[in-house]
Formats: sequence, structure tokens, C-alpha cells
Amino acid sequence: MRCRKCSNRAVLGLPRHNTAYCGPCLTEFVRTQVQKAIKAQTMFSPEDRILVAVSGGKDSLTLWEILLKLGYNVDALYVDLGIPGYSERSHEKVERFAHDVAEACGSKLIIQTVEEDAGAGNGVKELANLIKRPTCSACGTIKRYQFNRVAYQNNYDVMATGHNLDDEAARLLGNVLNWQDEYLQKQSPTLPASVEGFSKKVKPLYRMTEREIAAYAVVNRIDYLVEECPNAKGAKMLVYKDVLNRLEAESPGTKHRFYWGFLDKQKKSAESTKHTMTDIDQSTLLPCETCSQPTTAGTCSFCRMMARAKTAAR
Ligand code: SF4
Ligand code: ZN
Repeated sequence: MRCRKCSNRAVLGLPRHNTAYCGPCLTEFVRTQVQKAIKAQTMFSPEDRILVAVSGGKDSLTLWEILLKLGYNVDALYVDLGIPGYSERSHEKVERFAHDVAEACGSKLIIQTVEEDAGAGNGVKELANLIKRPTCSACGTIKRYQFNRVAYQNNYDVMATGHNLDDEAARLLGNVLNWQDEYLQKQSPTLPASVEGFSKKVKPLYRMTEREIAAYAVVNRIDYLVEECPNAKGAKMLVYKDVLNRLEAESPGTKHRFYWGFLDKQKKSAESTKHTMTDIDQSTLLPCETCSQPTTAGTCSFCRMMARAKTAAR
């Protein structure tokens, strides 16, 4: 297989684009796609300060690397969830990337640890058990909270995550299968900043598949953690991804058509009703009575969760 651009030996075939690329042409293709995403969805400008959430996996480290290569002003946040074994290994990958690549570009890494004062010294799983919630649900609350709080307190303009096309298409499939209207309304590569205290959230890798990002990471020697979080086992999202991968193998471009078709419909519907996500959020969000972070209730879900964990640990 030859690269369609320069005829060197190709490292990756992209059936959905009916093409193939060698290492350097793949690198150029991926960075161009990310730049297009940033522009098309008005994610941020070179003057903005960006905070990218990193987990040590391929997507988030690749996103950090690409934003640095494109010359953006980006730092990273790692939340240590205290997952035995996995957290140590992911923490190590993130630290190594910061040391070997990011620091030379003036980019810094911020580290947060799951609160120990809630009586959950052994991390997110113990905390979830204390309050009788699924681990991933408690974990999602913690990550969202820490990300937003760090972005707000350190005056970042935008928060970026490494969600890719596979993630977004799987999430869309789950939302459609369960007709979760509220989630469908909020599923977007760019969520605007809402009331003061809620930062703008963006997903600059939404045009790239998992496979394309993995190939980019290998070509560019990004040393990432290959293993999945042990708590992901049995997650519905993995089933949805598997189904979409099978459809993609039969009909290349399925994920792309599914997710981009949704974005087109969402845009048309927003234009016809002149209703934006900012309107919805601004009318419903207020500062949390305990921590001042934005919430729809008097006390935010993170503070309620921590209070329950403290009571249960007594
Ligand atoms: Fe957290 Fe679940 Fe993801 Fe593990 S799989 S990082 S516990 S949300
Ligand atoms: Zn709170």
C-alpha cells in the first residue's frame, strides 16, 4: 500500500476517505483535521489559554501534543483517581510526557487527587461504594468537577478533552437508543461557557477516529498507556463502539455520517428555533452554596456526593 499523497510506503489506510498515508502525510492530515475542527466549531483562538484533561491514554496525550505543535497556549490537568495499579501507571505516562515533551514548550501539568477527607483514602471505587453509586458515575462527577474548578480558578478560557469520533458516535447511539433528549441537546463538540464559573468545553479530536489517533500516536512516538481502566469492563459504551465498528467495517464512513448528520440536524434545529445551549444553561445554573461552582440545585452534585461519603464513612 502506497501513500496517496507522496507514494512512499503507507502506514495507514483510511477507507472512509478512500485513501492511505505514510507517517509524515498522516501527521499532516491529522493536524489539519484538528485545526479545521477548531475553526469550524469556533473552539478557541491563539490568544486563549487552554486546559486539556489528560488521562495518560492515546487520545488526551495526542491532543496535548497536537495543540502544542500547532502553537496554542495549552496546559494539562491530570486527576489521580486512586485506581490501584492503573492510576500509578497512567500518572507515570502523563508525568513523562510533561517532562519529555511539554515542558520544553513552556506547558505545565497540574495534578489533582481524589479527596481523601471524604473517608475514601483508597480512591474513586471506595468512594462510590460508600455512597452506593456505580464507580464510573462517581468518577464522572469528580472529573467534571475538578476540571471545571481548576479551569475557573486558574483563569483558563477553554477546557479541552480528547473525545474522538468513535466516542461521540457511541455516545450518540446510546442517547438515541434511550431517547435521552436532554443529553442529545447538550451533545456537541463545543459547549459554550454558561454562567460565570462554567468554562467553555471543546473536543478538538471529534473529526478523527480512534484508529487514526492511535496511528498518529505511534508515528509521533507518543508514549501512552495502552491498557483500559479496569472499571470500564462491561461498560455499555464499549458495546456501542463494537456495534459501530462492525457497521464501519461493512460500510466505511458510517460513524462519520451518523455523527456529522446529527450535528447538521442540531444546527438547523437551533437556527429555526433561535435557541442556543447558552440560553438554556444561563436560565438554570446558580453558584453552589458550599463551593460556589455552578449547579442547577442549591448544592452541586460533587459537594452532595462528598457529604454523603463523609456521613457513610463515620
Ligand atoms: Fe472513571 Fe469509569 Fe472511566 Fe475508569 S472507566 S476512568 S472509573 S469513568
Ligand atoms: Zn459544590
